[in-house]
Amino acid sequence: MNNRRKRRAELARFRRETDGALLTWLVDANDPALHKAPPLLVRAALVCCENLPAAPRHCICCLLLIGHRRELGALLLSTPANATSSMSVNAVCNSCWAQQALDEIEHAATDVLRAVVPNGYFEALPC
Ligand SMILES: [Zn+2]
Repeated sequence: MNNRRKRRAELARFRRETDGALLTWLVDANDPALHKAPPLLVRAALVCCENLPAAPRHCICCLLLIGHRRELGALLLSTPANATSSMSVNAVCNSCWAQQALDEIEHAATDVLRAVVPNGYFEALPC
């Protein structure tokens, strides 16, 4: 299976398992709080960081290709609210993370995640 087809199949599976709700974390790539996310997500994030030279990611805001950890500002982690092993990791570049308003980053994150949850929006978790 080529990469594009594989990616599309993964997205379709993620969408099926999501059931309309995702739990998301937007965390600084160097923030120790990253480890407060579920262990599987933390592992996926670390693998994503390690694989950047071989599998670069596009910044969700400016579409810059991020090929090295030093270019990475933040990670958008998401997983279905119901317990599954599906998860996604998206990247925000250093420059956008440092200079964009949080609203703009959240807007870009909303666009990305709407591929999985059409018309989805962010809401705070009840405390
Ligand atoms: Zn960027």
